[in-house]
Amino acid sequence: MRTACVQATPDAVARAALLLRRGQVVAFPTETVYGLGAQATNPVAVRGIFVAKGRPADNPLIVHVADAGAAEPLTRGLDDRARALMAAFWPGPLTLVLPKSGIVPPEVSGGLDTVGIRLPAHPVARALIAAAGAPVAAPSANRSGRPSPTTASHVAQDMAGRIPLILDGGPCMVGLESTVLDITGDVPVILRPGGVTREMLQSVLGRVAVDAAVLAPLEPGSAIRSPGMKYRHYAPRAAVRVVTGQPPARAPRLCALYDAALARGLRPVILAPQEHAAGFGGRACRPWGSADAPQQAASELFALLRALDEEGYDPILAEAVADAGIGLAVMNRLLRAAGFAVEQAEQL
Ligand code: AMP
Ligand code: MG
Repeated sequence: MRTACVQATPDAVARAALLLRRGQVVAFPTETVYGLGAQATNPVAVRGIFVAKGRPADNPLIVHVADAGAAEPLTRGLDDRARALMAAFWPGPLTLVLPKSGIVPPEVSGGLDTVGIRLPAHPVARALIAAAGAPVAAPSANRSGRPSPTTASHVAQDMAGRIPLILDGGPCMVGLESTVLDITGDVPVILRPGGVTREMLQSVLGRVAVDAAVLAPLEPGSAIRSPGMKYRHYAPRAAVRVVTGQPPARAPRLCALYDAALARGLRPVILAPQEHAAGFGGRACRPWGSADAPQQAASELFALLRALDEEGYDPILAEAVADAGIGLAVMNRLLRAAGFAVEQAEQL
């Protein structure tokens, strides 16, 4: 199959919508990452997403709607909490997990009794979903396990020959996938952190829990609330190691890991906030965001992981970021990319 990658003009959006109506899969920009969409109400079309991504069938897809009114029919009813969250954060990077109605095929929900729903803020995404005539199921437009795409050329790297069309809407603003919030129980639980932070959710809901799988590997045999957390995820080809622990001890530890990798004939690189980047004595280092601007680290992470792969670096040695605000989402993705290979730096 030939894959066209075109600017997201109104004509191109209309062409993409026609493909969706015919049961095809197309890639499109959102404010979080690029999505790989199919009509959510068409199980055959939805299966095409799993084939294109190589995604396990039990990993559910998020259903994207063009306006808040399109959410309710996908659910068994919205309570006050759901309505308050929609009013506060939609359109935007918040996915709500709710009990699903019969309209949502099991292919979309990975066999679960719930559905994740989001109203994206990106104008191209909204125009496309509106023109598609039905909600659009869309995971991130990467091959399963790879870093999510934040530009159209990242999508092309993973999807060329697998889908007919990629709409290019420029780089994604948030750069990490949406926050996934389960509101089916008494206490809302963040299953995956994202651009709508825990602090923002608490300002509307009061108590908000964070699932144990967000910052730690799943215990074997434990109940999985967010199926996406089961897999090594967001990962470049290179090995990734994360250095946490006491801030003054981190640079020496990063240098020691770097030197050990070099001695083994590898080609290491350090990822550190720009204000630390000069502190590695001539070792290869990529400045990554800034301690004061975690949003920048969020929007750059996936593109950096892909670029360092292209440049042949391995291993990638990353300094941890503070896990407040969007930093929680950054650490969640980084730890998964590393397969939880963490080095705790201690001062001697
Ligand atoms: P992606 O669209 O590739 O960012 O992946 C969507 C992720 O959202 C999945 O991997 C799940 O972890 C999560 N998700 C989607 N729907 C549900 C649901 N019904 N229940 C729990 N988690 C969900
Ligand atoms: Mg994904």
